[in-house]
Amino acid sequence: MRISWSFVVVIACLPGVVFAQGSETVGQQGSELTAADSEHFWTSERVVPMCWHVLQFPTPAEQQAAQALVTRTITEGWLSLINLDATWTDCPTSGDARHVRVLLRSGDASYNGTTLRPGTLTLSTAAERTQPPPNDPPGLLMGFPANWNQSDGDRAQFQALILHEFGHVLGFGHEQDRPDGVEDVACYTDDFPNTVKIGPPDPTSIMGWSYCDTALGQLSLEDIRGLRSVYGPRPTSNVQPTMIGILANHLLN
Ligand SMILES: [Zn+2]
Repeated sequence: MRISWSFVVVIACLPGVVFAQGSETVGQQGSELTAADSEHFWTSERVVPMCWHVLQFPTPAEQQAAQALVTRTITEGWLSLINLDATWTDCPTSGDARHVRVLLRSGDASYNGTTLRPGTLTLSTAAERTQPPPNDPPGLLMGFPANWNQSDGDRAQFQALILHEFGHVLGFGHEQDRPDGVEDVACYTDDFPNTVKIGPPDPTSIMGWSYCDTALGQLSLEDIRGLRSVYGPRPTSNVQPTMIGILANHLLN
């Protein structure tokens, strides 16, 4: 049985699909997930160990700016809302340490992302990460045009990609894969009848980004509500206030 919510927990196989906003490729894990796959949320670890695996940029300054945007977007957009943290380091090239290995690539034709597995299944050792596909990744790949940092609109596209892909890292699949999608929203499919849902259908979900024209490009309130049903709200003693966090606390608590 698949597990899901307004984000769907299972990741579907949509290789090479190209959309107006960018393209997104996610891997197929063969058989459908079972209820046990809810264990691939980070609810035991409470820390996501991220590491920089490959960074492809024309200049160190652009690389540093992109890394800063990635970490800030994940921290403010997701982690500030829930009881979960992340650590960031350069990826080890040997040993048994397991990380979510991140590849960033500037100069692509469009915004595109690949997260082959959901949740804790994105972890890999250095040796596992060098295996050929489909094992390379697990991890998180994001490619983007060279002009990603030239305007607020460009950065917003990149940030929407970051939020969407990290949603997969948190264990969530595609909103449009729900079997109970909104009837007149074209992005919904009926391909995943056994998906278990959390929350109501939400065509504005970040997990429908690049698939649903209605997606906001940032977390919706239903996203936050469902997210917190899995991970719990961030302890108030450990909150770095953000605008969306303040809004969410006001509306949801
Ligand atoms: Zn996706």
